[in-house]
Amino acid sequence: MHPLQIFNFCPKCGSKNFLINSNYSKKCLDCSFEYFKNPIIGVAVLVYNESGKILCLQRERNPGKGLLGLPGGFVDLGESIEEAAIREVKEETGIEIENLKLVDNIPNSYIYSEMEQAPLDFYFTANITKNALLKEQKGETSHLRFVSPKEINPDSFAMESTRIYLKKHILK
Ligand SMILES: [Zn+2]
Repeated sequence: MHPLQIFNFCPKCGSKNFLINSNYSKKCLDCSFEYFKNPIIGVAVLVYNESGKILCLQRERNPGKGLLGLPGGFVDLGESIEEAAIREVKEETGIEIENLKLVDNIPNSYIYSEMEQAPLDFYFTANITKNALLKEQKGETSHLRFVSPKEINPDSFAMESTRIYLKKHILK
């Protein structure tokens, strides 16, 4: 299935002559507008506490509602991946982090809004700052808790890229 199959009309002029032009694009025969499906950029952070445990959360929204996740989200326009990582951790858990380090990047894939979404997820490690207080975000994250790396079960995590990361870097 073409990644832009569900887009039937040109987003610029509204023409129905909006046709597949390459594996990742559609082009309008009437106004020549071309639209590409590119990866969106995701970030996720393994936040460690003083005991070496990793901050996990329960997802309150689909995809993967009820399953586990790491704090993270999407890079905003004009933002660096580091800025996005720090902002998303703060938004989802209320805490500040330090020693942010990029470890890996892994393509992800899931269905959202009837479309296959394919973010490229950047995985960081970081430390929780001293005296930081966890604060859950209503409607998005709940049950924030620190889990020992030994107790991590990748299959209880929602995102394919997270499962791959955990198997590669934590359960090695
Ligand atoms: Zn058009």
